[in-house]
Amino acid sequence: AVPTAVMVATGRGAGEGLLIKGGAPLERLAKVDTVVFDKTGTLTQGRPEVVEIVTVIGTNQDEVLRMAASLERASEHPLAGALLRRAGEGMPEAEHFEALTGLGVRGMVEGHAVLVGSRTLMEQYSVSTAELADVADDAAHAGQTALWVSVDGLAKGIVAVADTIKPDAAAAVAGLRALGLRVVMLTGDNERTAQAMAHAVGLSEVIAGVLPEGKVEAVRKLRGERRVVAMVGDGVNDAPALALADVGVTMASGSDVALEAGEVTLMRSDVHSVTTALALSRSAMRVMR
Ligand code: ADP
Ligand code: MG
Repeated sequence: AVPTAVMVATGRGAGEGLLIKGGAPLERLAKVDTVVFDKTGTLTQGRPEVVEIVTVIGTNQDEVLRMAASLERASEHPLAGALLRRAGEGMPEAEHFEALTGLGVRGMVEGHAVLVGSRTLMEQYSVSTAELADVADDAAHAGQTALWVSVDGLAKGIVAVADTIKPDAAAAVAGLRALGLRVVMLTGDNERTAQAMAHAVGLSEVIAGVLPEGKVEAVRKLRGERRVVAMVGDGVNDAPALALADVGVTMASGSDVALEAGEVTLMRSDVHSVTTALALSRSAMRVMR
């Protein structure tokens, strides 16, 4: 590549909060025809809040919140933050904590076995979801994430959590499509929540309910279709997918892992920066030819 054109483009990018690590990523960016977005923290703010707690008869909201928040104190997932902010101080200490990536968390609270996470997690531990299924479905329809809470093998409640879509997401996605790009949303969240969010953002292609390995698999599949893939994420559960993509694009608000995995870092962590990066790389490559 022509060094001056690369320097001009990366310099101009830096002015717009885009850190592009050299000529090779810049060239690959220009060839990208598919942009895959991780949902949480990328298309959304990644700062979810509890909107509602629904319990089974005989259990109260505070009990469910207390059990769930105790466990989530040990978790680094953004969803944990929502429960902790709502619960406040003075939660009991959990024991035998375990994070089940892409599913939830498990552990012991005051001698009780507690699970917090997706419906799939409940099913994996043979917890019956019949009684609260409608509650969870309603939350998902509204674009909220339903966190199931079980105690000693019984579903006790649903904590509905909502994350805000970034204000520029819809416009930025429309801009990408106008550039002729295929735009895909990839998430570990459930299908229905993902569809509701995708609709709000103006996205027609969604891959939902995938574990971190599933995110890697989705990127591999697209590349197998000869797509040139830019994966945009925050590094929470998606670092391997970022590494496998033709170009890994990370939001600076994400984890340190992501900053290493990504060849392009967006300091402004807005969605529009992705469009800017692609447009910049394309014009730089036109100059070189
Ligand atoms: P995303 O792809 O949106 O970043 P993740 O793969 O991190 O989502 O998580 C997928 C799903 O697993 C979440 O929507 C949630 O249902 C469940 N989950 C993951 N971590 C936690 C946690 N710490 N507490 C509760 N639920 C969790
Ligand atoms: Mg994520």
